[in-house]
Amino acid sequence: MSTDADRWTLMIHGGAGILRPDTLSPEQSAGARAGLGAALDAGSAILRAGGDAIDSVEAAVRVLEDDPHFNAGRGAVLGFDGQISLDAAIMDGRDRRAGSVAGVSTVRNPVSLARAVMATTPHVMLSGAGAEEFAHEQGIEAADEDWLVLPERRTQLAELRAKPEGWFDAEMKYGTVGAVACDAHGHVAAATSTGGVTGKRWGRVGDTPLIGAGTYADDRACAVSATGAGEFFIRESAGHEIAARMRMLGEDAATAADAVIAGVVALGGTGGVIVATPAGDAVWRFSTPGMYRAYTDAQGARTIAIFGAEI
Ligand code: ASP
Repeated sequence: MSTDADRWTLMIHGGAGILRPDTLSPEQSAGARAGLGAALDAGSAILRAGGDAIDSVEAAVRVLEDDPHFNAGRGAVLGFDGQISLDAAIMDGRDRRAGSVAGVSTVRNPVSLARAVMATTPHVMLSGAGAEEFAHEQGIEAADEDWLVLPERRTQLAELRAKPEGWFDAEMKYGTVGAVACDAHGHVAAATSTGGVTGKRWGRVGDTPLIGAGTYADDRACAVSATGAGEFFIRESAGHEIAARMRMLGEDAATAADAVIAGVVALGGTGGVIVATPAGDAVWRFSTPGMYRAYTDAQGARTIAIFGAEI
């Protein structure tokens, strides 16, 4: 196995949306930047030590799940019924093994539950009560409503419920979190975790836990994590489509990501993606005014940004 200690890369996101200096308070912005920095630190420590991309993306996403600035784990949005319902996925580009969970509400770090699905079961995706039973059997750390639900999220839901036409969060600040990495061995991995969209109903599941939509990784092409209006990312098969374009059309990551975001927009959606390749390239692309995003690599680059014009 070849190793190139100078090659690893880690890119993360904390959601796309109408993120501008006038829609985000300085406190929110500073808090989110600190959270992105902590996630970069957790994920990059593993890559710097020669560890695996799959461990790095899990570590980075766990930090963001625990951070109330983002819509995943602690601080997740509420469904129309006032309940939390978390989705997450993880995928290893080495062998395209993947795990995901949908509709869990008692787990502190759904990304680690998704990892356990991948590592210890013959299945790829578990949902609802069964996923929680599995979490319990595996000794995955639980969390109660007091930990997961923030008062602001209750206010947001009340505002949405007051609008007759309000299907989804009118603020369009998606706060899903995700990470993609290439390790020093040239392997890629992706992980994504979310509370979905405010006011979701009827057991709605978005793109995040769907392998090939919001999360995908394949050493033959790239690793992808998406954020945005999930229904459109599902219909575009966004993650797989980016990888397929790179593999079959020979496009680079930026060209493939641009084409797929354009496809999402053509369907009526908005959002963004982060993409990492086994060659050590990484790009972010988004159609929204901003996206919480950060990047670091073996050369010592370190970028943290929110607003579109920053970088
Ligand atoms: N993509 C997520 C979903 O539709 C939402 C987000 O990106 O915040 O569930």
